Parts: sequence; C-alpha cells; structure tokens
Amino acid sequence: MKITFEATLSVADLHRHIPHIFEVPPGTTQIHVEFSYSPRYSQGQENHNQMSLSIADPAGPRGVYYLIRDYGINITEARCTPGFNAGPVRPGQWNVEVDTYRLLPPDPITYTIEVTLSSDPIPDPIQTYEKKQIASRGPGWYRGDLHAHSLHSDASWDVPDLVQYARDHKLDFITLTDHNTVSGLPQVESLAGDDLLTMGGMELTTYYGHAVVLGTRKWFEWRLDTDDHFTMPQLADRVLASGALFVTAHPMAPGDPECSGCHWEYEDMLPGNSPAVEIWNGGWSPYNQMTVEMYYQWLNEGHKISATAGSDMHGPPDPDRRGGRNVVYAEELSEEAILEAVRKGRSYISAGPDLILSGQTQSGIEAINGDTLPPEAAVISVHWSGAHEGDILRFNVNGRTLEKRPIQAAGEASWTLEPGQAKWCNVEIRDAQNEMWAITNPIYFGDR
Ligand SMILES: [Zn+2]
Ligand SMILES: [Zn+2]
Repeated sequence: MKITFEATLSVADLHRHIPHIFEVPPGTTQIHVEFSYSPRYSQGQENHNQMSLSIADPAGPRGVYYLIRDYGINITEARCTPGFNAGPVRPGQWNVEVDTYRLLPPDPITYTIEVTLSSDPIPDPIQTYEKKQIASRGPGWYRGDLHAHSLHSDASWDVPDLVQYARDHKLDFITLTDHNTVSGLPQVESLAGDDLLTMGGMELTTYYGHAVVLGTRKWFEWRLDTDDHFTMPQLADRVLASGALFVTAHPMAPGDPECSGCHWEYEDMLPGNSPAVEIWNGGWSPYNQMTVEMYYQWLNEGHKISATAGSDMHGPPDPDRRGGRNVVYAEELSEEAILEAVRKGRSYISAGPDLILSGQTQSGIEAINGDTLPPEAAVISVHWSGAHEGDILRFNVNGRTLEKRPIQAAGEASWTLEPGQAKWCNVEIRDAQNEMWAITNPIYFGDR
C-alpha cells in the first residue's frame, strides 16, 4: 500500500513542523518512506533549502531523518535506517512531520513524501547490541570528546568509524551526540573497551540554537512549539531533572542562513539555567574567541558555569585543525564520573598541552579548577608540559589578564592573590598569534 503526501511551501512556512498522519493496519511488518523536495537551491541562493523528517508511531517518537539520503527510510522490527529506532511496527496512527529548517526565496518549494507499507516477512534477524562493561580505572585526568555525529544524523561516517577515530587518537572517552536522535547509542555503547569509554547523548537541534544533552539514553522533545509549547529553560530543566547534563553548544556560531539554527538566540538563557557552555567547538576560531569573552562576562556576573569543548566531528576532521579536547579530573573512567567532573568544572580544554591549575589559601585549603576557595590570600600555581617555546601563558583574574609571559614547552608558575582580589581566576596558553592551545575552567573565590 502506498500513501503520498505533497505540499508546496514558501518562506512563510519557515520553522514549522508540518504533520502528515497515516494509518498503519495490523500485520504491517515494514514501512518505507521516501522524501524529496525541489528546488534544492532557490534561485540565486548559496545555501540550500533544508528540511528534516520526524517520524512517530502510536507509542511515540521513532526517529529523525536529519539529512535526506538517497536510500530513504526503512522501519522494521529487526532493524532500521540510521536515525530510527528498531522495534515493533505498531498498528494505528503514525505521523511523519516535516521540519522546515531553511526555506529561501524566491521559489516555491515542493516536497513529496511517499510511504509504502508492506506485510511481507522481514528477512533480517533482530539486531541487538550488548553494552560493554569496561575495567575500572582510578582517579585521574582523562582526555576525550563530548560532541560528535554519525550516519544517524548528518555525518559522513558510521558509529564504528567514529569510535575507531577515538582509538587512533588515544582518547579515553568519546561521546555520540546526533541531531535530535538517540538511535546510534546502543551501538556506540557496544563498542567500548578497557581502552575507551563510549558515552552517549543527543544534540537538541532547534531552529534558534543547539544544546548537547550528555549522559542520556532517552530522547528529548526538541520541538518547543509542538503539543504543549515549552521554553528552552523548561527543556533544560527537564534534561537536568533526568540526571543528564545540558551544555549550550557553539552559542556564537554563525546562524541563518549560513548555518540554520546554529547561533544561540535564547536570550533567557545567556546563560540562564545552563550549567555548561561549549566554548571551543571544532577547530579554534574567532567564534570560539567570542564565546570565551562571553563566558568570562558570565563568570564576572557571578554565574558558576562549566566550560567544555566539542569536536562536533561529522567525519574525519582536517588533521591541521586545532580542536580542543576536554581533560577531566574524574574519580574513575565512567560516564557518570566524567560528567560529574565536567559539571563541577574539574577540567580544562586543550589542543595538546597538559595544563594543571591548583590553588592554596593561607590557611591551607586546597583547590583545583571548579573548586571554590574562601576569600583569603591564596597562591595559585600552574604547571604545564607539551606546549611550544614562545607560546604565551596568561593568568586571568576576573576576566582580565594579570600576567602574560612567554614560556618554554614545560614549566611552572605561581601568583599570590590578596584577600578579596579575585572572584575567579584561570590560565590560558596561546600561541604568538593569540590562537588558543589550552584554557582551564576557573578556581572560584567566595562563600559558595
Ligand atoms: Zn550544533
Ligand atoms: Zn553538533
């Protein structure tokens, strides 16, 4: 049985979720969906029109077709096209919804959705993935990535390729965060080993900003304006109440039309109730520099918010790009412990060097990044290795650089702060061109 939906859109249909309901009769074993639209590029436009498809069965969301691929969507009990969760083909009302990310003038844009239902027996056995348990490692500094994509959304590589990349680059942990779907997570969990922790989440990819949810296996409704209309702060609260971590992603990235929805436009969340912000997305760039400046301003306003990095890899990255990794002091190498440490700011971000910050007050209270010291006189120390001769070390207090000095590849330095002089301090290593190599989360001062 075949069902066809067609519609013609104009720019007035931008940022909508357009539902198409169809009935699946009992006994259906396979659903195939083809989606196409035209024109891909409206006349005179450099950016293509962009839509995704969200599919829900009578029990709830089934997945997303974030990038239109030429193989269409297959849904069966045994296995599904990446982006969709395998599971029973439930009879009843299904909904295929068109999400309009980018519609550019002047041409009308016509789309066609073709749904084919079949009750033929399915040839494949049910695909299962077993979660790998990994050997415990004790407290220490662990280096890894908190933001990456696969075929389950718009990346060019599959989950095993991403995991292999992490192994080849000697990461301790890697995180799969596909756009608006968690369908790749069972597979990524099955690929862990004693050498590599694989973590999971999703990237809430809304029309007005992106946020990474870390530590979830559960899908979160990202369409703020469907059903019960909720706000981004409410969505962040839902995420945090579930025990997952919410990270505002690449807030200063360019937005429409260049990158649809990539710029953070939720003014009630600057930073609002977001406990973490990705200050280094992909390779180091002016957008990351702008984010660091905004982050320092937030710290000066009294927010205690963690800084993270995300490769945002969608395939093998250019080996020359300077990507920041999260170096986290965790109690052990487990997803829970890594995220707890990230939440507390017990981490720094680095594209290479080790950069260990610590502090001690006159009365002997000790701290590392993320900790809060009482407002007494304190000595702040840093030691580093793996930097480059001629790099610049910066010691920042309340967002202002107190000292800037050229360094050798390895070394140490310390500064004495007067009581009440600092609300927070941190350290950066940059090259002579002011491009970042490493940046720490702050040590705070106060009664918090
Ligand atoms: Zn994003
Ligand atoms: Zn991303």
